[in-house]
Amino acid sequence: MRYQFKFRPYQRRFLRSLTTNHGKWDIREGIILRLTDESDQLGWGEIAPISWFGSETLEQALDFCRQLPEEITDKIIFSIPDELPACQFGFESAQGWGSGEWGVGSGGDNFITPNSSLFYSALLPAGEAALNQWETLWQQGYRTFKWKIGVDAIADELEIFELLTRILPAFTKLRLDANGGLTYEEANFWLRACDNFKANPELPLEIEFIEQPLPVEQFQQMLELSTSYKTAIALDESVATLKQLAACYQQGWRGIFVIKPGIVGSPSRLRKFCHQHQIDTVFSSVFETAIARLAALQLAAELSRNNRAIGFGIDHFFEQEETWFQSL
Ligand code: MG
Repeated sequence: MRYQFKFRPYQRRFLRSLTTNHGKWDIREGIILRLTDESDQLGWGEIAPISWFGSETLEQALDFCRQLPEEITDKIIFSIPDELPACQFGFESAQGWGSGEWGVGSGGDNFITPNSSLFYSALLPAGEAALNQWETLWQQGYRTFKWKIGVDAIADELEIFELLTRILPAFTKLRLDANGGLTYEEANFWLRACDNFKANPELPLEIEFIEQPLPVEQFQQMLELSTSYKTAIALDESVATLKQLAACYQQGWRGIFVIKPGIVGSPSRLRKFCHQHQIDTVFSSVFETAIARLAALQLAAELSRNNRAIGFGIDHFFEQEETWFQSL
């Protein structure tokens, strides 16, 4: 198949800058792709890189798009190098747009409705602000929350954590995401705090897991921690791309894998890996627009196991979804 190819960069400003252990993030930049096939069917795709998380940079993605001819083929799409994982995702999802495999347009696009916030995890603001914001999100239907740790001093965060666990209602699940920002000692502190919490039957809240407690280089320590505590550990930064994911699996990781479809790489190869190894996955957003989100959610619906909420509860971080991409 041959496609007419067009692309356009975009920028979206966060309502409030996003704070993680990696720093502050104010503007999401990416590229919208449009493929028109030989029968005039449109396919949309999105490249939404996060270079500090392990994908290519926006500039590298733009360079790749600029050097492509106006007409491209499946062969080009399926041979994008592994160094450009966000491009692999963007082009493959544009190529598969509307096909049976993706299910778009055949009823597949409403398999997750806005009312199913039960199945989404909502990102709480870092620090004390979490104590004020959970309630609005709860009222919107969210029951799984993620809170960033490793941002402030551990003593302060443990105190806020204590408060959070006391005010969050029963049957809430809480995920703690350190973005690799803890020391080995701090990680032990947090895991112990979570295990202690689990041991208290009067607190009906569930600590679902701690996400990426240590930096990527400290895989062996995380592997060891994952067998030393009852609280589960999820790898995120460590498994940003398919190559890393396969390497962690091969080195024995049987905990949770956070998959960000937008930057992990080729959807077809991800599908193959997940089917082959039946790994425990949590799917998560890269703050993409509706285009990449649709493709990512379809992968999540297809590949999620163990009823884990997916990390796409981020609408409250952006202004209303723009519709300008229709004019591309
Ligand atoms: Mg994370």
